Amino acid sequence: MTPTQATARFFNTAADLLNLPDRERKQLLTPYREIKVECSFTRDDGSLATFVGYRVQHDNSRGPMKGGIRYHPQVDIDEVNALAALMTWKTAVVNLPYGGAKGGISCDPGQLSLGELQRLTRKFTQRLHDVIGMYTDIPAPDMGTNSQTMAWIMDEYSKFHGHSPGVVTGKPVELGGSLGRDAATGRGILFAAECLFADLGKKVSEFTYAIQGFGNVGSWAARLFNEAGGKIVAVADVSGGIANAKGLDIPALVAHVAKTKSVAGFPGSEPILADELLYQACDVLIPAALGDVLNGQNAGRVKARFILEGANHPTDPDADTVFAANGVTVVPDIFANAGGVTVSYFEWVQNVQEFRWEEEKVNTELRRVMQKAYADLSAVRKKYGCDLRTAAFTLAVDRVATATRLRGI
Ligand code: NAD
Repeated sequence: MTPTQATARFFNTAADLLNLPDRERKQLLTPYREIKVECSFTRDDGSLATFVGYRVQHDNSRGPMKGGIRYHPQVDIDEVNALAALMTWKTAVVNLPYGGAKGGISCDPGQLSLGELQRLTRKFTQRLHDVIGMYTDIPAPDMGTNSQTMAWIMDEYSKFHGHSPGVVTGKPVELGGSLGRDAATGRGILFAAECLFADLGKKVSEFTYAIQGFGNVGSWAARLFNEAGGKIVAVADVSGGIANAKGLDIPALVAHVAKTKSVAGFPGSEPILADELLYQACDVLIPAALGDVLNGQNAGRVKARFILEGANHPTDPDADTVFAANGVTVVPDIFANAGGVTVSYFEWVQNVQEFRWEEEKVNTELRRVMQKAYADLSAVRKKYGCDLRTAAFTLAVDRVATATRLRGI
């Protein structure tokens, strides 16, 4: 099943519950605009390199479109389409005044020098500058990109349109980025977990955790769950995995990764295969790397009782069926990892107002948004007697369909 087919299946389950007419389904599923561009630049050795970049703008009925830019070899139009649609549903679940978009370049950023990455990013921005903007479409970091990438996009865009910090979020704080943005996705996962566990009369500190991915999302999730008293028993990144049933020393691991660029070889841990991370003995699994890692074939091997989706689209609908049968609770990406886009929204609000928030205000407002979204989700779950993913899609599709109807054709 392709990512677009999987996302459409989640959408249709929600649309069935809402009795959405076919004409509205087609309108909501069809992207507003798909863009594919050639990005050529001179490599450090003087040769010419050409990569293909994409931006899919999915829906703008609730506000400007919003979504990350990914640099990864697997980026293609199908994946970008699915991720753009997920952004529409995600911004609706947490009730931000945004629509959804996504972009990326099919490349391996690890094989490019800093200078090459800058030239590639500037070329991509030159190709897109006419169709992105503060009130049109606002990119942000995703896999393989970071605050430096956003700084280059802002600078290149500003050459065409004048000083425009609000055209991207996830910028360095020195250039109008928000305090708390780096940690926001991990912090949002923590707030989502607190809501879920409170419903069960439990606390974050009562569980063990395994985390796939130790980049922005995975490493911040590890730090924040660890600070909240949770025991992190396994983590993996692209280079391999590590485990310790007694709990990993997360501050020391963060320092080890800063030095060596990988979790492998961390003192006081057993090596495991990166793929085996998903099947480790733990209470809570947090996929925070690639999409499509849990499917009908491997879902039965997962031992965790809870899955908090830090990554976008880590679970396909067949895996959801297995998890439901096995009593595994899945907190879906479009709620669990919405902390990133929520603090991106706070950053944009600060740029629009030209006014800075303290980090404490950012984190307090983030908690409020996540708690309100969880309360909204719980009400939908109760009304339809469905799982959390179906509740999240139903809440989101209802909000987007209502906005589309009110705006008219
Ligand atoms: P990142 O590039 O900072 O980190 C990615 C991590 O995944 C790295 O540690 C990498 O080594 C690891 N990884 C890659 N392939 C792997 C494999 N086969 N097995 C194990 N680990 C592997 O990316 P990120 O920003 O942390 O994003 C991770 C996921 O979270 C993506 O799905 C992204 O779309 C999603 N997400 C990110 C944000 C954000 O604010 N950055 C917000 C919402 C969702």
